[in-house]
Amino acid sequence: MSKNIQAIRGMHDILPERIALWHRLEDTARQVLSAYGYAEIRTPLVEVTDLFKRSIGEVTDIVEKEMYSFEDRNGDSLSLRPEGTASCVRAAIEHGLLVQPQRLWYRGPMFRYERPQRGRYRQFHQIGVEAFGLAGPDIDLELLLLTARLWRLLGFDSFRLEINTLGDNAERLVYREQLIAYLSAHADQLDADSLKRLHTNPLRVLDSKNPQTQQIVADAPTLMEYLGEETRSHFEHIRQGLDEAGVAYSVNPRLVRGLDYYNRTVFEWITEDLGAQGTVCAGGRYDGLVEQLGGRPTPAFGFAMGVERLVELMSLAGHGTEASVDAYLVAVGDAAQSAAPLLAERLRDAVPQLRLLTHCGGGSFKSQFKKADKSGARFALVLGEDELTRNTFGVKPLRDDSEQCELGFEALAAFLSEQLTHRD
Ligand code: ATP
Ligand code: MG
Repeated sequence: MSKNIQAIRGMHDILPERIALWHRLEDTARQVLSAYGYAEIRTPLVEVTDLFKRSIGEVTDIVEKEMYSFEDRNGDSLSLRPEGTASCVRAAIEHGLLVQPQRLWYRGPMFRYERPQRGRYRQFHQIGVEAFGLAGPDIDLELLLLTARLWRLLGFDSFRLEINTLGDNAERLVYREQLIAYLSAHADQLDADSLKRLHTNPLRVLDSKNPQTQQIVADAPTLMEYLGEETRSHFEHIRQGLDEAGVAYSVNPRLVRGLDYYNRTVFEWITEDLGAQGTVCAGGRYDGLVEQLGGRPTPAFGFAMGVERLVELMSLAGHGTEASVDAYLVAVGDAAQSAAPLLAERLRDAVPQLRLLTHCGGGSFKSQFKKADKSGARFALVLGEDELTRNTFGVKPLRDDSEQCELGFEALAAFLSEQLTHRD
């Protein structure tokens, strides 16, 4: 016998029992984003490989080892998108969106060839936000406050916010030299990866996970010492805004982020409840990227959150899976069975918010009630010979001890409407 085909390692089915959590997260995010005036954009899952090389950077984990790249039938090198910012910038340039400030968001699957583990997958989902054309710290602050609001609405009250500033290019260049000098002096104590990055991407050494390298890094010069007045006050403004809004944060001078395109503000929201993969949302300012990809110089700020990690937290916090139906229509006997579909349609017209599952396939009252109960519905609506002749429905509550009753069509529609206003 042939072996069953299974999903690709690190790529997961999202089963119906978990989908309510996804919907809750997605719906809440969409509401918050639209309340702040952000518009959704959808871009293809596949782009030319160069887009990611030129934006994320050649010497990054993503481009060096995590991309799903392949040749298409024309021999062009294409890649499954590992993140959303590059595509967003590409689309914004291509469609001339950047003649004015743009507040955009996107969601969908991203692909990275990483070692699968809890909270780290090869296909995972992000909700991302990008604001273009706004240079001041007010937009950085707006987006940090937006994320804080989203966590409040979702009931996450223990996330930690870390922020840092990476300075501007010139400042980083001076700092880079100092850092290389310092790290070179300790080269014999650095791990192999860090040693490799020493000259190509020394800032990444700062967030090395290697304990010995971390010890060296602890005494390294910090970028903060090399910042000019403007960068400093940009950062100050954000700190002050967070203080005034009562959003707690800490400044982490080692926070550099894994992508090359960031400057000035970077941040991460971190949870302690997921083990090692604790970052649930991360981003920052990337003023150089639009120009780097061929557009007019356009300041930008953006971030992405990891949907799987957030959904896992919702599940850990006991957000259950709500029932997906309100009522289950039981119909016994030939006449009732043939009347049921049309009556169900009429009910759906009369009570548009009703989620009604109709029984299909006949059977006894007993077997149909069993299915009704299993469906999670709050009510069984019962149609037998008697009800049919009386032009009524039996209404049997399935989740509490309240009395069964019998209602005519109009009364039933009114009853269900009333019950469903308390649903959400
Ligand atoms: P990490 O340090 O966890 O690898 P990253 O810096 O690579 O994260 P970003 O590219 O900034 O992550 O992506 C933003 C968010 O997307 C992360 O904070 C995380 O929540 C989520 N994320 C990133 N990679 C994965 C993955 N392989 N599986 C699941 N979620 C992911
Ligand atoms: Mg990563």
